[in-house]
Amino acid sequence: MLYAEVLLAVPVGESWTYSVPDAQASAIAFGKRVIVPFGKRKMTGYVILVSDQKPEGGYEIRSIDRIVDKEPVFTPEQLRIAKWMHKMYFTATGICLSAMIPSGKRESEMDPFFEPASFRAIEHLSSSQENALREIREGSSRVYYLFGITGSGKSEVYLRRAEDVISQGGQVLYMVPEITLTEQLSDEVYERFGGRVAIIHSNLTPSQRLKAWNEAAKGDVDLVIGARSSVFAPFRNLKLIILDEEHETSYKADNAPRYHARQVAQYRASELGAEFIMGSATPSMEAWKMMMEHQIHRIDLPERVGNGKYPKIRVVNTLGSKRNITAELEKEIRRTLEEKKTVLLFLNRRGYTYGYSCSVCGHVITCPNCSVSMTYHKKDNRLYCHTCGYNMPAVRVCPECGSYDLVPRGFGTENIEEEARALFPSARIARLDADAVSSSKDEMHRILQAFRNGDIDILLGTQMIAKGLNFPLVSLVGVLNADSSLMIPDFRASERTFDLLHQVAGRAGRYRDDGLVIIQTTQPFSPAVSAAADNDLEGFYRKEMKLRKETLFPPFSRLIDITIRGKNEDMVREKAEELENIAVSIAGDDEDLEIFSATPCPIERKALYYRYHVLLRSGNIARLLYFASLVISRFSVPSSMYMEIDTDPVSLM
Ligand code: ADP
Ligand code: ZN
Ligand code: ZN
Repeated sequence: MLYAEVLLAVPVGESWTYSVPDAQASAIAFGKRVIVPFGKRKMTGYVILVSDQKPEGGYEIRSIDRIVDKEPVFTPEQLRIAKWMHKMYFTATGICLSAMIPSGKRESEMDPFFEPASFRAIEHLSSSQENALREIREGSSRVYYLFGITGSGKSEVYLRRAEDVISQGGQVLYMVPEITLTEQLSDEVYERFGGRVAIIHSNLTPSQRLKAWNEAAKGDVDLVIGARSSVFAPFRNLKLIILDEEHETSYKADNAPRYHARQVAQYRASELGAEFIMGSATPSMEAWKMMMEHQIHRIDLPERVGNGKYPKIRVVNTLGSKRNITAELEKEIRRTLEEKKTVLLFLNRRGYTYGYSCSVCGHVITCPNCSVSMTYHKKDNRLYCHTCGYNMPAVRVCPECGSYDLVPRGFGTENIEEEARALFPSARIARLDADAVSSSKDEMHRILQAFRNGDIDILLGTQMIAKGLNFPLVSLVGVLNADSSLMIPDFRASERTFDLLHQVAGRAGRYRDDGLVIIQTTQPFSPAVSAAADNDLEGFYRKEMKLRKETLFPPFSRLIDITIRGKNEDMVREKAEELENIAVSIAGDDEDLEIFSATPCPIERKALYYRYHVLLRSGNIARLLYFASLVISRFSVPSSMYMEIDTDPVSLM
């Protein structure tokens, strides 16, 4: 009699043993899925061991119902990744494994939209491209970072290196934040790499995806291109992982297992001894620190390959302005339209409406511990830090300028389209935001195409259009409200704002040298805005790094964010406080561990659920993971509530 040890996608326990009916004994194998009885249900199990030894324990062993797959759908390497993820992201190994294998569940990798670069082979490399390639070819490092401005031609460097590796018989994984597959792209890819590529995009059905995976696992393809979840694709001989736009938060999963594709890729590459190349124009602070400390080898690509230049940037102070489109921006729009060029208006919707700031000087009240903006609570007229729980009475006088005009500030964005139509009645105006896209992806492509062709004069859009898209005709970009992302009560507010402004600015000067960007803001002197305006990346990173060091936030520490969610607010708060108390008692007087008070999440309610969180912090990840595992093992949530554990969260909302 054979026995199969299987993992199930359930939150408890590690593995279960089932007996294998003799009729199926020849087909059972590691890596296949089986249907098994579990309690009163039938579930999918993942076979991780086949043995003829009856397990000890004397409990009743049930029999598998049937085997799902003809061929294994996961490899021993993937199982190792799942086990690693279990420890790193506090999700049962079976759930990790099931998340790694294409199934009926569609991934929602939607926002923002990217246009992957051209895959057409380029004959003459620029000198920085040549240098970059030489450094990688001749280097002894295993991890590289292409720090190159937008349009510096990073893709061609990745692709040349991929060709090297493939010519030596290796396989390559090429990751992008989101893939919008166009016919042109797929033609170019196939032309360059022959038929031996698999492009994993969001329109593939699970079975098409699985087919692509089998090809990679068998070694029938040399190159797999895909977004976040393609980091799990099985390979026979993976030798190079490329991760473009490293800083993008879409690489982090927002459901359990809350993995970061960069972390998984790094783990995988180091386990396999594969090379790992990341790249971005605006690296994450985490990557930046690793580069500074020479843990990853940084290669600079400082020039654009084409004629484009970084555009001129003008900052307009909107303090006291009642309009969404200031007179200055209006004037420039008019001029641009007269010159028959096009305008991109960017509206920062990652906004947050309860920041508390001075309407005279723009000063924002921040937490003394975290430098995160404080949130105003009307019910007790106090300001709260949603990160560490610090709170204080709402201040009356601006500590910067002494004015009495401190107000909770919100940003109305609904009226902008109307305002634009009223100002420019004869212009052709279109809007693109999440609503437009969810209604129809085709509509989105139609609008983008029309804008690109010059059939739309003014395109109004959200962060969805901020990145990755190329509009050669755009000569004016207006950022309507740079502040709203600065006000996000998250220690990354400044980093996100800078990244966004820098990328948006990149939309204007990519193909021309008359690009102009107007940034409207109430905080013209904030480091994020002024550094973006001056195109001073290094300066921004220096300042932001210093602040992170002072406040001990990542990359100078690691975080685990534990959120309790439920319909009864009092119960949720009590549970979160209980969690905090358990953590405090376990930590004792260990100075390496820090527990922030249970506090409502910045988004306190989501779809009927109240949310409280407790943040754990340490300088040492191994220690932090161990500590969190102890805390969680002594803590349980009733079935009316949920606990979400987020290691290295990219957002604390
Ligand atoms: P990045 O990813 O660094 O922003 P891309 O790789 O998207 O830049 O390249 C920008 C554009 O420049 C692409 O259209 C690409 O085809 C083109 N390009 C890249 N390298 C060269 C080169 N050596 N000569 C001319 N054009 C190039
Ligand atoms: Zn003030
Ligand atoms: Zn705080």
